[in-house]
Amino acid sequence: MFDTTLRDGEQSPGASMTLEEKLEVADILDALGVDVIEAGFPIASQGDFESVSEVAKRVKTGSVAGLARASEKDIDRCAEALRDAKRPRIHTFISTSPLHMKYKLQMEPERVLEMVASSVSRARNHVEDVEWSAEDGTRTEFEFLCRAVEIAIRAGATTINIPDTVGYTTPAEYESLLTRLREAVPNADKAIFSVHCHNDLGLAVANSLAGVRAGARQIECTINGIGERAGNAALEEIVMAMRTRPDALPFHTGIETKLLTRASKLVSAVTSFPVQYNKAIVGRNAFAHESGIHQDGMLKNAFTYEIMTPESVGVAKTALVMGKHSGRHAFREKLKELGYELGDNALEDAFKRFKDLADRKKIVYDDDLIALVDDEIVNAHEFIKVDALMVMAGTHGPQSAALTLDIGGDKRTHQATGNGPVDAIFNAIKALAPHEATLELFQVHAVTEGTDAQAEVSVRLSEDGKSVTGRGADPDTLVASARAYVSALNRLMTKRGKTKPEAMQAG
Ligand SMILES: [Zn+2]
Repeated sequence: MFDTTLRDGEQSPGASMTLEEKLEVADILDALGVDVIEAGFPIASQGDFESVSEVAKRVKTGSVAGLARASEKDIDRCAEALRDAKRPRIHTFISTSPLHMKYKLQMEPERVLEMVASSVSRARNHVEDVEWSAEDGTRTEFEFLCRAVEIAIRAGATTINIPDTVGYTTPAEYESLLTRLREAVPNADKAIFSVHCHNDLGLAVANSLAGVRAGARQIECTINGIGERAGNAALEEIVMAMRTRPDALPFHTGIETKLLTRASKLVSAVTSFPVQYNKAIVGRNAFAHESGIHQDGMLKNAFTYEIMTPESVGVAKTALVMGKHSGRHAFREKLKELGYELGDNALEDAFKRFKDLADRKKIVYDDDLIALVDDEIVNAHEFIKVDALMVMAGTHGPQSAALTLDIGGDKRTHQATGNGPVDAIFNAIKALAPHEATLELFQVHAVTEGTDAQAEVSVRLSEDGKSVTGRGADPDTLVASARAYVSALNRLMTKRGKTKPEAMQAG
């Protein structure tokens, strides 16, 4: 299993992670038993370089891969970032389809083949473990693909990846492509073949599994299926398909499936990408049975409607109900049950907020805790924080907001008016932390039912073609809005200086 949540996943519009968040994700990927963790694209920015290098130092079991285009500069920078990895892998790629070679690369096919040889050899001079990808592989002419793969293996590539970059192939077609390729390339037995599928037609997982049937022994995927456009193949779906149907799919992975729910929640929290309710394996409804007929069957025998148990993916049966009298220990246990393990400081901060919430709200539901802890994980180490907020709203405008922000330890206050309270808050933030970003999305969602429910707000900001999403939760919708905006702003600061995403697209 090759996970690219930190590279392809992070590349999707609006998804961005800070260094601390990337390290947390790397830890859980390592604990899950992912074989290769693709940590980023070192040449893309100083921030990407640092995160690959930090992940490389940190990961104990898996290999750590960095992505590089077919240029010496890319490859050398990638090798530098991977210097401290126990098992470094350089993943280099170039487009091989007629369309990409002509319009994107503006290169003759023969020149592309030369670049394959030179880039792979250069990478091999740095590390033993080199992966080569034929970008837009599924739309590449078969004969040309065979030549490129043969050259890459001869130059020392140990893994050959055939990506369905645009999410265009079908299972039967992909299976046939990989089967024919492995037969036609004379030195095919010297490399592991890999699949990398995008989900534009909703076929990423099906295509990946078809590739495995054809002999591929590496699957590139992401947690929650996040990634460019419609995303990548979802790791949790591939793993559970193989585990649940070993008769039809006689392959196994080393993934600790009980950590899948926790990994899903963490990635959702740090990217601010919600998981759709009916998402397979990790959606909140994935194991919910609401219809009477189903419930009746379930009570008689769980296997009537359940093909796998919620426990197998780490969904615990809820035992503890939380309220204002719950103590620290119960709180910690509850979080564990929900898949969170916080450090002492984070736990203490989250506990304070939980107590505060329990004072205001009779029952604290699991979803309340999830929103609170996610907010804590996302916003705890931020440079800019919301310190205090007072809002005047109602029928007689203008609505106004008095806001205090903590900007790197320096507290500043500003009062602003606006067309409604949210506008007033955002104007105050703009005055305190001037920026040029435009607001692309403002979304409020009630975490649970009832008028005392917490509000969870998502804010997406964009600047110079880069977009980021911030999230905030609070029983007060306006406080949640301020937190979400500030969270997005913090993310934008970490993204500045990064090369435009379209110039960096890969695989
Ligand atoms: Zn991709």
